[in-house]
Amino acid sequence: MTRFVLAGGGVAAAATAAGLRSRGYDGRLVLVSDELHLPYERPPLSKEFLSGKFGIGDFPANPQGWYADNDVEVLLGTRVDAIDPAGRRVTLSDGGSLAYDALVVATGVRARTLPGFAGDRVHSLRSIADSERLGSRLTPGSRLVILGAGFIGCEVAAIAAARGVRVAIFEPEPVPLARALGPQFGAAMIAIHREHGVEIRAGQLVTEMKETAAGLELRTRDGETVECDELLVGVGSVPNAELAIAAGITVDGGIVTDEFGRTSAPGVYALGDVASRHHPAYGRAFRVEHHDTAMRHGGNAARNLLGEAVPFSEEHYFWSDQYDHSIKSVGHGGAEAAKILRGSVPERSFSVFSLENGRVTSVVTLDRPQDFMATRKLLAVPHQVTADQLADPGFDLRSLLPRRPRTRRSEASR
Ligand SMILES: Cc1cc2nc3c(=O)[nH]c(=O)nc-3n(C[C@H](O)[C@H](O)[C@H](O)COP(=O)(O)OP(=O)(O)OC[C@H]3O[C@@H](n4cnc5c(N)ncnc54)[C@H](O)[C@@H]3O)c2cc1C
Repeated sequence: MTRFVLAGGGVAAAATAAGLRSRGYDGRLVLVSDELHLPYERPPLSKEFLSGKFGIGDFPANPQGWYADNDVEVLLGTRVDAIDPAGRRVTLSDGGSLAYDALVVATGVRARTLPGFAGDRVHSLRSIADSERLGSRLTPGSRLVILGAGFIGCEVAAIAAARGVRVAIFEPEPVPLARALGPQFGAAMIAIHREHGVEIRAGQLVTEMKETAAGLELRTRDGETVECDELLVGVGSVPNAELAIAAGITVDGGIVTDEFGRTSAPGVYALGDVASRHHPAYGRAFRVEHHDTAMRHGGNAARNLLGEAVPFSEEHYFWSDQYDHSIKSVGHGGAEAAKILRGSVPERSFSVFSLENGRVTSVVTLDRPQDFMATRKLLAVPHQVTADQLADPGFDLRSLLPRRPRTRRSEASR
């Protein structure tokens, strides 16, 4: 009987398992995860779970009971320690090993740490355990310093501020989130955080940390001393690609794959956050750390494992929730793209489009879901649009979409 092994217990592995079984794969399927929980979705860890709105069972990657019902062997608390591509076998941390016909490496990323910043009051956020521990310390009146104004740092700041925690974010860039979202967006987000009482220390770097009897004492590059009770290090991530490196599989930071998810080792696929995947529309490989992409990689992998040859050519999309605002983005605008604003920055309802050669190549929206939805569809079809049309909120972007042919049914129902 065929055996597929899934290394990793995130949404990419979970979606691969679901895709395989829904497509009728009836061979052996083993999911190996070093976590103690069945695969779950990570976005709530800095949102609904951290705020207490969701409990532990509220955000599984597959429904409760699904693995048993679908005959998926799940090894929790177990690491894949090594891959032997020639022998098609993985070694496990419990001393055992598993032969495979195909192996999916979906080991994700881990939080980047900073040397000298460790201890009971120092947090990173990647797992249920991290979120539980951080959440238990966010008590009203306590002081939280966040290093890094990325999405995770900003989302935690929003939840903590709502709980009455005194929050300060230190960010070396002059405008937080500007690299990911552009300067207009970054400036709007800073203003929103400041209105909620979050102190934003842009252009500032914390270089040292000392534990004191009362908490933590931080020192900035400029020699300032800042005291806090808890510290969140939110300074990016590191791909869990060591397994692949040790096995001689090509890695460029992430595990390099073609558009079908295949690595340089026969029978070994890489998916989700850890994969540096060739995207046919961009003609190059790159890594994205988005929930939706990881899930879709899984669905795509299932098809390719079952013998189809389906490239992954979908656009990448992500969202972030901060306070009662929702950021949504889709596509990849090139560095040369013209940036076109639609909507009102002061009213906190706007979109920034990337326009290249008369085509929209990406959009990032703040509380304008209609622009996000229309652009998501637009990116999939040929279209031509002008800067004036994009800037005009009265211009309906959906008018650029091809008209759907009338179906017999709709004709008949007229
Ligand atoms: C706090 C937080 C908030 C987020 N919010 C958003 C959001 O709002 N929107 C969005 O688009 N994305 C968000 N993301 C990103 C999104 O969660 C990731 O893109 C997604 O989880 C990637 O899934 P994955 O399966 O590739 O990897 P992961 O979810 O990282 O899963 C990898 C799994 O493999 C395990 N593992 C690693 N090495 C081994 C090994 N050797 N053996 C066995 N198991 C191993 C890991 O412990 C982990 O369980 C967020 C991420 C975090 C941490």
